[in-house]
Parts: sequence; structure tokens; C-alpha cells
Amino acid sequence: MESEPFHRSTPNLRLVNYPSMSETWCEIPPDESPAGTCEYCGQPYPTQNRLILHKGVEHLQQLDADEQDAFTATYSDEEAELRTFRLKALGVLVLLYFGFLITYVIVT
Ligand SMILES: [Zn+2]
Repeated sequence: MESEPFHRSTPNLRLVNYPSMSETWCEIPPDESPAGTCEYCGQPYPTQNRLILHKGVEHLQQLDADEQDAFTATYSDEEAELRTFRLKALGVLVLLYFGFLITYVIVT
């Protein structure tokens, strides 16, 4: 029995338009040891989260259920962190805009 592809079984995740492999690879400085190495392609990663995300993006069809669950959780955490970062960046831009506007009004 063939199982349903992961991205169709989790409609709440938007897992289309994956970055190419070169975008998920990273350099490990020579004086540091990687947190993990991908068992499918041998690429080292500095953190476990980066390794889990790499495996989910590049080797999704080869992952077992536990690895897919780890990818889903890590992907959701990453999206939540990105959403928080975007809100903070927007807040900083709004503060800068009104700060400069008020400064302009006071000075002129
Ligand atoms: Zn890999």
C-alpha cells in the first residue's frame, strides 16, 4: 500500500516551492563540530533544527513517520519565529517612521 505524500496529508503546512539544495546547505567553520550530519547526502549541519529542516526539504520521501513529525514540528516552530520577527520588524519600521515624522514636525 502506497502512503499519501506528506505534503498532501498535512494541508495546514505550505510546503511547496522548496528552495534548491544549495540554499539549504551551509558551511561549518573548521574549528567547530557539526551538530549532525545528513545520513542521506552526508552534508553536516551546525544545529539539529537545521538538519531536520534540510531532511524535510530535500529527502521528504525517504523520511520515516518520526522524522516527518519532527520536520512538521520544526517547520511550524520556524514559521512562528519568522512571523514574530516580521511583526517586530514592522513595529520598528513604524516607530522609525513616526519618530522621524515627529522630529520633522518639531524641528520645522
Ligand atoms: Zn541530505
